[in-house]
Amino acid sequence: MQYHLNGFKPGNLQVGDASRVPPSAPPLRELPDQVDVLIVGTGPAGLTMARQLAEFADISTCILDLKSGPMLFGQADGISCRTQEIMAAFDCSEILAKEMYQLHRNAFWEADSDNPEHIKRTHKVPDARIGLSEFTHGVVNQSRLHDLLLEGMANSVTHLVPDYNRQLVNLAVDEALTQDFTAYPISAQFKRTDKSDDSPLETIKARYVVGCDGGRSSVRQHLDIAMVGDSTNKAWGVMDILANSDFPDIRVKSFIQSKNHGAVMVVPREGGYLVRLYVELDLLEKHQRAANLDLGVADIIRQAQKILTPYQLDVKEVAWWSIYAVGQRVAERFDNTTAEDQIPRAFLAGDAGHTHSPKGGWGLNTSLPDTFNLGWKLASVIRGQNQPSLLKTYASERRKVANMLINADREMSALVATKPNAETEANTSKTAEIEKFIARQNGFIAGTSIGYDESYICTGMQHQHLATGFAIGQRFHSAMATRLVDGRPVHLGHLNKADGRWRLFIFADDKSPLAADSEANKLFKFLQESEQSPINRYTTTGQDIDSVIDICAVLPQQDIEIQDLPALLWPAKGKLGLHDYEKVYHTCNEHDVFTQRGINRQAGCVVVVRPDQHIGTLLPLNAHDQLSAFFEPIMLLK
Ligand SMILES: Cc1cc2nc3c(=O)[nH]c(=O)nc-3n(C[C@H](O)[C@H](O)[C@H](O)COP(=O)(O)OP(=O)(O)OC[C@H]3O[C@@H](n4cnc5c(N)ncnc54)[C@H](O)[C@@H]3O)c2cc1C
Repeated sequence: MQYHLNGFKPGNLQVGDASRVPPSAPPLRELPDQVDVLIVGTGPAGLTMARQLAEFADISTCILDLKSGPMLFGQADGISCRTQEIMAAFDCSEILAKEMYQLHRNAFWEADSDNPEHIKRTHKVPDARIGLSEFTHGVVNQSRLHDLLLEGMANSVTHLVPDYNRQLVNLAVDEALTQDFTAYPISAQFKRTDKSDDSPLETIKARYVVGCDGGRSSVRQHLDIAMVGDSTNKAWGVMDILANSDFPDIRVKSFIQSKNHGAVMVVPREGGYLVRLYVELDLLEKHQRAANLDLGVADIIRQAQKILTPYQLDVKEVAWWSIYAVGQRVAERFDNTTAEDQIPRAFLAGDAGHTHSPKGGWGLNTSLPDTFNLGWKLASVIRGQNQPSLLKTYASERRKVANMLINADREMSALVATKPNAETEANTSKTAEIEKFIARQNGFIAGTSIGYDESYICTGMQHQHLATGFAIGQRFHSAMATRLVDGRPVHLGHLNKADGRWRLFIFADDKSPLAADSEANKLFKFLQESEQSPINRYTTTGQDIDSVIDICAVLPQQDIEIQDLPALLWPAKGKLGLHDYEKVYHTCNEHDVFTQRGINRQAGCVVVVRPDQHIGTLLPLNAHDQLSAFFEPIMLLK
């Protein structure tokens, strides 16, 4: 797909250049007096939070932003494999994959030793992330991802839309009420940004608040949570441009280190013409802010042209630009609690909890998974399904990721920004080190190797040998299987939708699942019939049997009739009692998940997947008691 030939046009890329119009803001409305969840900020963290909560008719949510409407330009553009897996949970990964620039190669350029004023390609390599996921790392305007989330919210049962032109100015948490889960301990005040300063403030009471309000988070300041870390002294320029260039890798992600003028990163963008350049600029004085530098887009272009010598860069249009300097900092807490036994009511997510340089493309790709982690926990606690203590695990799981991000960014920033000078001239050849860094950190960069430490919601490491390719704590690594009833190949990972449900993936043993001595058969019967079955314990009478815990069976055998299997595997659902035939799969030669994920063929196993696609535990098929015990500290009895 090609777009922006006659100039950059924001909006729905499924609509041609000639007729595309920018998305508009919903009409302003009066704010509600009280809600279950208040989300401040409509960046990727806020929208991912809202998108999940919007699916529950019994949760009231309000999401606000000081901006006047949806984002149109700029900011993050790299969409990691993991982010696309998450977008698959919202059913919009295909559209992103279609629209985005897909990153297949990286090129490395340095000063030409024969003519040091010129740059020369040292090498080009396949992107290290290829094969880590069914998705390829891509590049597309952050606003497209926002649009897809906004569309999903508007089309959901709650028809949730953001309230723009609202700036959070005060936030108070009534500590006396925080451990009463029916109470509304949060009180937030908003100023209208489209009106004069003396217009009256609007107040909302909330049971929970999620601060997704970016690096200068007002929620964080009101919660009195400090940022820990360093600020940088290096300014960078970033610009999205429509340009002509004879630089041979203008459509390949390139790391360029010149001898005397600093570094440039070339990031080709969606649509074939647009390209983003990150350009190394000046050192800042102590306490000097990048925004106060007397530099503009013309300076960024001039600097890029110097670095790219001998190649030409003829900029025809600048779609967006910015100058920034960001240090590596993490919030000292990700929620409002200071004691182990307190249940949090206020959370920080995204850039509000971690700031770092944008060059690694990790901002959006860490912010969105933050709230993908928190969303299901908060929804299930509000709906009375899960224990409130589950909310403590958000900070412990995601703060660790933030620290990993900060360390990786510190390393990457030092490698990319290596303006040579007399002292460092001897080792200015940094591109080989960048390549090594990318190869070493490829799982982290792709987001696919991010795992949570052992806890009561990530446990059972002693059984890991039963399926070595499904790492407990990491996301369920998708693989294909064939649907039994109609022979359709399906990505198992894409069954993990963002609907708050847990999923049991049962990889059957090598006996026929119809035989009485098959462990899979015994497990199906336990789940269907036993009072101890977590499905029976936590599903309320009248609910569909898969509404809390869904099930997916993968059989090594193909010649089975679904009706011969226990009814749990083709349950009657909905008001018409129609059978769901999409819960049983089998392997075939092209799609052998047992081989691909190192599953013990003889014994099989059950993989318990959390609503955020991470693996909660992995158990032998006959570990019925352990399966029940796993859910006990998490769930509340019906
Ligand atoms: C100018 C800029 C340039 C960037 N460039 C890049 C880049 O080139 N590459 C890259 O990977 N990343 C870049 N980033 C970072 C990337 O956009 C973020 O990491 C990512 O968007 C974080 O998502 P978030 O949802 O946590 O916060 P944000 O996307 O920052 O969203 C926060 C939202 O909160 C709103 N808000 C803030 N304060 C209040 C308040 N008091 N009341 C109400 N609303 C409020 C803001 O208007 C904003 O919409 C850039 C960020 C900025 C700000």
